[in-house]
Amino acid sequence: MKLILLGAPGAGKGTQATRLAEHYSIPHISTGDIFRANLKAETPLGLKAKEYMDKGLLVPDELTVDLVMDRIAQEDCVNGYILDGFPRTLNQAAALDEKVAIDAAVDVEVPDEDIVKRMAGRRVCPSCGEPYHTEWKVPKKEGICDRCGAELIIRKDDEPETVLKRLTVYHDQTQPLIDHYGKQDKLVAVDGTLSVEEVTNAIIAKLEA
Ligand SMILES: [Zn+2]
Repeated sequence: MKLILLGAPGAGKGTQATRLAEHYSIPHISTGDIFRANLKAETPLGLKAKEYMDKGLLVPDELTVDLVMDRIAQEDCVNGYILDGFPRTLNQAAALDEKVAIDAAVDVEVPDEDIVKRMAGRRVCPSCGEPYHTEWKVPKKEGICDRCGAELIIRKDDEPETVLKRLTVYHDQTQPLIDHYGKQDKLVAVDGTLSVEEVTNAIIAKLEA
């Protein structure tokens, strides 16, 4: 099963990726991990990517595609894989189409208002880094870290204005990909507002239909 996973930041994409990887016994591959692994091992591709990153430039699509191709050529990918964070552009999607036939692009759909609400409940301990949530992981004493007693804070990234800005960027970037895979009849859209388990089951049911 060769999958691409789409979903806004805060839509629960990472959780679903882990669950699907387990269900299908295939690796969950995030572009961030590929970059980190290649930089650490100082591979030729990693060193090339580093040149761009050191100059503060974006790594070109061709190089990103080469890094992904190199990763999915590895032995653990013989039965498939889940790509997370790739493709990000139509260019990358077209390059991927030339090399492999993916089975589906899964889109975990959550309305922007819901994502803003989810993010707005997040709190973090500035001292030990422990994450909390006003609904799902409430500290014993309001606003205070259970582990170290420090006062919890809201990260700038979780403030509604920041979240909305990131969502706008996400939609601008992702809509062309959704259209692209829709045209190929490979788009599997699921309601991401359901429970974690229901979302996984809905994805699997659609993939197997
Ligand atoms: Zn703490």
